[in-house]
Amino acid sequence: MTLWLLGTHLDRTADYLENHDRVLLVESTQFATRRPSHPHKLTLLFAAMRRFRDDLRDRGYTVEYRQAETFGDALDTQFAAHPGDELTMPRPAAHGAADRLGRLVAERGGSLSFVDNPTFILPPAAFDEWAASRETDSPNSYRQEPFYRHMRRETGVLMDDGDPVGGAWNYDGENRETPPADWEPPAPPTFEPGETTRDVAAWVADELETFGEATETAAFHWPVTRAEALTALDRFVDARFEEFGAYQDAMVEGEWAMSHSLLSASINLGLLNPMEVIERAEQAYEEGAAPLNSVEGFIRQLLGWREFMRHVYRRSMPGLAEANQLDQTESLPSAYWTGDTEMVCLSEAVGHVREHGYAHHIERLMVLSNFALLYGADPGELNEWFHQGFVDAFHWVTTPNVIGMGSFATDVLSSKPYASSGSYINRMSDYCGSCPYAVSRDTGEGSCPFNSLYWTFLEENEETLRGTGRMGLMYAHVDDKSPEEWAALRERAEEVRDMAGAGEL
Ligand code: FAD
Ligand code: SF4
Repeated sequence: MTLWLLGTHLDRTADYLENHDRVLLVESTQFATRRPSHPHKLTLLFAAMRRFRDDLRDRGYTVEYRQAETFGDALDTQFAAHPGDELTMPRPAAHGAADRLGRLVAERGGSLSFVDNPTFILPPAAFDEWAASRETDSPNSYRQEPFYRHMRRETGVLMDDGDPVGGAWNYDGENRETPPADWEPPAPPTFEPGETTRDVAAWVADELETFGEATETAAFHWPVTRAEALTALDRFVDARFEEFGAYQDAMVEGEWAMSHSLLSASINLGLLNPMEVIERAEQAYEEGAAPLNSVEGFIRQLLGWREFMRHVYRRSMPGLAEANQLDQTESLPSAYWTGDTEMVCLSEAVGHVREHGYAHHIERLMVLSNFALLYGADPGELNEWFHQGFVDAFHWVTTPNVIGMGSFATDVLSSKPYASSGSYINRMSDYCGSCPYAVSRDTGEGSCPFNSLYWTFLEENEETLRGTGRMGLMYAHVDDKSPEEWAALRERAEEVRDMAGAGEL
């Protein structure tokens, strides 16, 4: 009997490690070559798998580590050594993976069964039960916020005798500050690459085509072992957590990490368990090490958003990946690959992705996907771009975030798009101050590209958007504009599109 683990199953504390003859790990070259991914992502994944292998062997497990072109090739070798083997695997989160892998095993005369995947907190049946109870309610009750409250009640996290700690469920109102001009966040931890990481990084650099020809000059910030991931968690709680809440939505020129935890990749790979991270955050609150707005805001991301995304993806695939309710078909502007643009916000965010394989949530949502949405980019192409560029990208989490939240290609996650003009970016960042474009102007040469695209986006998608969610106020402004204003907005939007398409924005 073999326990087959994927690169997202690197949990050395999992119960499923027991009661097997051996553990199988497959390093498939096809994963690295099927798309040009960020070098840090590939280095992280393969180095973490190899270090996990070494750790299991040190603990006395028999580990078969197979390097092959495809999973099928690795299974050929596996079944030649162990004919008729019975395999078990934690259920993979990617749509269709369980069936696909099951078929590969069956074709070679074996069997593959699945156990619960501890990378997530709520089992599918429990989510489905919650969702069924909402279907009788209003359509907006199948949303993250009521789900998050349900999860707080179910787990007892940040609860006080049946009520939310502090008296409110959500402290978002306190999480929209921008830091003072002289603010400097503590530097994020870096992990000196060991021999394994250096070997993988050299192979990636020598052999593979990588994302946007991203360079590898940046320090490596991504834990490849559980010990490093625990250090990253400690460093976040000790040095950054206090300010996480207040500056959660803020952007500062030159600061790629702000006070974010940088833990998503560790959690998605299984190096950290989401519940242990939540419990650590709650403990920090109880010990007075972090304020409630930081702790609640952070826990909501993990207990609410991460879990909700996983289940919405599970229930909405395969249609979710193909969704395009606004019929957007433009190719992504070349600046997404090169980072070459005068727009400071876009140049910063793309630069962070190219350098680190990471941009924080508000850059992902309100700069990278907001601009693509207003520009009319194909949501599938944007999804592919995020998959290539980010160290924490896996289909189950990138797809609902990009297609649902960022592109509003379906209304399964929200009833209105996360679309804004440059004024939001100006409010939440210091980017506009040094930008050659004028955020205060909507039209004419030199006006902020976000602005004309925003108004024409509302105009072009009026049929879908006017009646939805909370768009009433925006359409009141649309209705107020004169024909002359519209003519100038359309002209500037056209110009912006042409410049973006030609890589001249
Ligand atoms: P923090 O800001 O410190 O948040 C704490 C944790 O909460 C994260 O580590 C993450 O595990 C979880 N979390 C927060 N928001 C979400 C969310 N919306 N969905 C799922 N988990 C969440 N997250 C990924 O893990 N992989 C992706 O490929 C990914 N792509 C995204 C694409 C877009 C367009 C958007 C808007 C969001 C995306 N996210 C993705 C969600 C979120 O932006 C990242 O999880 C977060 O920025 C990771 O950085 P952090 O660990 O510093 O997070
Ligand atoms: Fe971005 Fe517009 Fe501000 Fe420039 S002016 S940084 S393009 S929002």
